[in-house]
Amino acid sequence: MEVLKARHTGFCFGVKRAINMVLKEAEKGTGRLYTIGPIIHNPQMVNILKKKGIVPIEDVFKIKSGTVVYRTHGIKKEEEAYIERQGLKIIDTTCPFVKRVRRYAMYLRKKGYKVVITGDQNHPEVKSVLSYLDNDGIVLQKSVPLSAQKIGVVSQTTLDEETFLHIVEGLIKGAEELRVYNTICRSTGIRQKEAATLSVKVDAMLIVGGKNSSNTTKLYNIVKTVQPNAYFIETEKDIKPEWFSGLHTVGITGGASTPDRIIDLVERRVKNI
Ligand code: SF4
Repeated sequence: MEVLKARHTGFCFGVKRAINMVLKEAEKGTGRLYTIGPIIHNPQMVNILKKKGIVPIEDVFKIKSGTVVYRTHGIKKEEEAYIERQGLKIIDTTCPFVKRVRRYAMYLRKKGYKVVITGDQNHPEVKSVLSYLDNDGIVLQKSVPLSAQKIGVVSQTTLDEETFLHIVEGLIKGAEELRVYNTICRSTGIRQKEAATLSVKVDAMLIVGGKNSSNTTKLYNIVKTVQPNAYFIETEKDIKPEWFSGLHTVGITGGASTPDRIIDLVERRVKNI
């Protein structure tokens, strides 16, 4: 079986930076490290970190001691305020690209724009940005007519460009003034374009990553539109040899939160089929 791997797979800049920061802190052995929700959306990596004393906790307000890690996609303003009030030690791994979304959103609000965040209202990054607007913003995942004198737009970093442009196009009609900051992370766009290009060259595609990872799910959805033989897997153990019966080439791509090690194991397993 011939295997073609996308050039950009494995941890993105933000995830690499976050993992390095927490591991460095864990090595000091200064006690328990709490991440608010999983630090990255990859269950296998989260389990490895747990063994090193880095534990996810859902309710930040239950943390009374230890070190708190702000995850790559940020936490809510009120959660940050609580942690600071408690005087807890903070490791802020919020990705600089996520902070940029927050900064632009706050700037637009200050300048009197009705702020629109394009993305998924349930995603932690969107919830975080919205909290910095004191919830005075609108989250759109698809094109919805809006009318306001001044509309300002930012995007969830992992949104696909097509959806973003479609929403922006719809907003032009209802705004006297429309100001748009394209805050989609380049790393996301590159992976999405590569995945789409690779998908048409192969007989089947494997998309590797956590089922709870938004950017991996989007990769899968993009691939599926051009390659019917697309499989979303978390590890090499999910692979079923019958998927490839009669096929010659398999493409592999992975989300920004998928460890290289898992991609390598997937590649090895497919080559052995
Ligand atoms: S996908 Fe982009 S925004 Fe998200 S953590 Fe990675 S580098 Fe940062």
